[in-house]
Amino acid sequence: MDMSTIDWANLTFGYMKTDYNVRSYYKDGKWSTPQETTSEEITMHMASTCLHYGQEAFEGLKAFRGKDGKVRIFRLHENAIRMQSSSHGILMAVLPVEIFKEAVIKAVKLNDRFIPPYGSGASLYIRPLLIGISPQVGVKPSKEYLFVVFVTPVGPYFKEGFKPTPVAIYRQYDRAAPLGTGTIKIGGNYAASLVAGDMAHKAGYSAVLYLDAKEKKYLDECGPANFFGIKDNTYITPKSTSILPSITNESLMRLAEDMGMKVERRQILEEELSTFEEAGQVGTAAVISPILRVDDVEEDKSYIISKDGKAGPISTKLYNKLKGIQLGDEPDTHGWITIVE
Ligand SMILES: *Cc1c(COP(=O)(O)O)cnc(C)c1O
Repeated sequence: MDMSTIDWANLTFGYMKTDYNVRSYYKDGKWSTPQETTSEEITMHMASTCLHYGQEAFEGLKAFRGKDGKVRIFRLHENAIRMQSSSHGILMAVLPVEIFKEAVIKAVKLNDRFIPPYGSGASLYIRPLLIGISPQVGVKPSKEYLFVVFVTPVGPYFKEGFKPTPVAIYRQYDRAAPLGTGTIKIGGNYAASLVAGDMAHKAGYSAVLYLDAKEKKYLDECGPANFFGIKDNTYITPKSTSILPSITNESLMRLAEDMGMKVERRQILEEELSTFEEAGQVGTAAVISPILRVDDVEEDKSYIISKDGKAGPISTKLYNKLKGIQLGDEPDTHGWITIVE
């Protein structure tokens, strides 16, 4: 591939073939040493549990090239731990943290030429994937597993600047049940969110904001991102048993505290939306995607968050701070960065 033809700043959030991916297999109670391959294909048995019974979990994290030329991976350890929690949730073999880290670092290093230059706004997206690959016809967990890490360069999330977008509440859909699998990062939750997500996109919304599935009163999270609101110098994010614990959200809570703000994780009634000065969706892809307005579509209610159509000052400050740490422009005071040597 001729790298000089890549327009880094205009890459989308899509798949681009890179040079290598890294794999480790679990068999007879042991994980193999992570090994690179150039193949983009996986050969597996047609009765593999990942294909029938959804034994599949994934992660999403990023690596950035700094002004100093160094490559930084953001919160590698926390992603490794979260994948373990996903394994426990759907009875998959638990991948040792060290193997997760080794495979990710190897995949990043081997694809160094795909790590976008500093200043392009682009980054290297890292996708670890864990699947059950032994055949079962009865509903039982797999005996064998495959862990794969591939990477792909992705463009800046905000091509037209850091601008708020509207989100929708659709009461006839739930993403995850209160005591279900919402707290783990598995494909099944995404399958459950596709119909409502498609409806939202077609209607001009950037995402669905789900309410709690049981009472339909409290804010839960967006399809692939957590929710936060800001008022009275307080960062408020929902507490629920069906939310995926976003590592970006946890990082922003720490930064908000560093800035002298109060942080609350508690139930948020839908009606409280009318009191927020700012609100946003948070996740690895965008860090923060500010919310313009929330429409409760079936109830014909609308909550305006951004009165001037611009991102609020606190969201902007939090966003710049976190991006600065990721790029190495700001000191890594919390130990969130792994430098790839
Ligand atoms: C991955 C994910 C997020 C964001 O988590 P980050 O660790 O911040 O990337 C939020 N919600 C859901 C449902 C997710 O799967």
